[in-house]
Amino acid sequence: MENTLYSAYLINEGVNLEHSKTQGIYKVLVEKCTDGIYVIQSGRFRFTNPEFRRIFGYTHEELTDRDIRDLIVPGEMELLTETIKRMEVGTEKTVRCEFKALRKDGKIIDVEIDFVHFEYHGRGAVLGVVREITMRKRLEDKLKRMAITDELTQLYNRRQFYSQLEKEIERTKRYHAPLSLILLDIDNFKRYNDTHGHVEGDKVLEKLGEIIRNNVRRVDTAYRYGGEEFTVILPETGWIEAYSVADRIRKVFENTTFYPKVLHGTVTRRHLTMSIGLAEYNPTFNLENFVRYADDAMYKAKIRGGNKVVPHEIMIKGTKPGVWQISNLG
Ligand code: GH3
Ligand code: MG
Ligand code: MG
Repeated sequence: MENTLYSAYLINEGVNLEHSKTQGIYKVLVEKCTDGIYVIQSGRFRFTNPEFRRIFGYTHEELTDRDIRDLIVPGEMELLTETIKRMEVGTEKTVRCEFKALRKDGKIIDVEIDFVHFEYHGRGAVLGVVREITMRKRLEDKLKRMAITDELTQLYNRRQFYSQLEKEIERTKRYHAPLSLILLDIDNFKRYNDTHGHVEGDKVLEKLGEIIRNNVRRVDTAYRYGGEEFTVILPETGWIEAYSVADRIRKVFENTTFYPKVLHGTVTRRHLTMSIGLAEYNPTFNLENFVRYADDAMYKAKIRGGNKVVPHEIMIKGTKPGVWQISNLG
């Protein structure tokens, strides 16, 4: 029964049953394969299966002898055409890679592709399998983003903070460029939460995330370090310049009005403040004490009544007189 069906299928597909059965089986496999299959020779498509044509949105006629460059996005062109040339000649036998490809309708898709060198009609060619992985890529990117992002504020999270700070410290050691760190903490936030509830507290954190994002420079990166504590890494920045970034954030936050609900649904107006500590990296620091210096300075800002930016005293001592007026500091 199975054999009869199989023969009927082959006849239907125009396969000569006199040919070896093996050839017929290969044809079915290639035609029904859920991966795209292709043959390239001299930079042109010599063969494609239906799935390959579906992925790229072309008909059989359109793809036959088509230049492979029509399916490659400009940014990937050089690398891919070079790889394919090497594969055709046979200097490399197999390669697997992921890249961005161009569909006929202009849509850019992610594909995973294998290149295998083989002989086709007596000349070098490339044979391979293609899978569309746009959805998988999108999901991977989303998961990667989620793993380093704080959901509430959409800033980076603590894990990313440590990983980035480590990189920045390495960079500053190599290039001797300054590096500053600011650490900020909302003043009396527990009281705000206790009075207005956690949901209203969350709105403050969300808004603060936005304020920080809008007030740091392009090169800076901002993080939610803990509950109501945030950090900003400022590459190539000395502490005096970092001070002005920190103070801008402090002022904007101080001037932001919140409208939390109180009991029975009435709305009230509230202002909040924050304390900010800052430190500039010095080659004698390691990651832990760099963070601790910023934290100690933040704590000093609290002791002095909050709503202040305080650089760690090591920075102030190390700065030439006249460059910075100590009286300017909170
Ligand atoms: P200080 O001025 O010394 O910083 O006092 P504080 O009340 O801000 O500090 P404390 O560390 O005692 O309390 C921090 C509070 O932050 C505790 C908690 O109510 C609040 N908090 C921490 N994480 C979250 C959060 O994710 N959502 C909300 N709504 N509140 C949070
Ligand atoms: Mg705190
Ligand atoms: Mg606090």
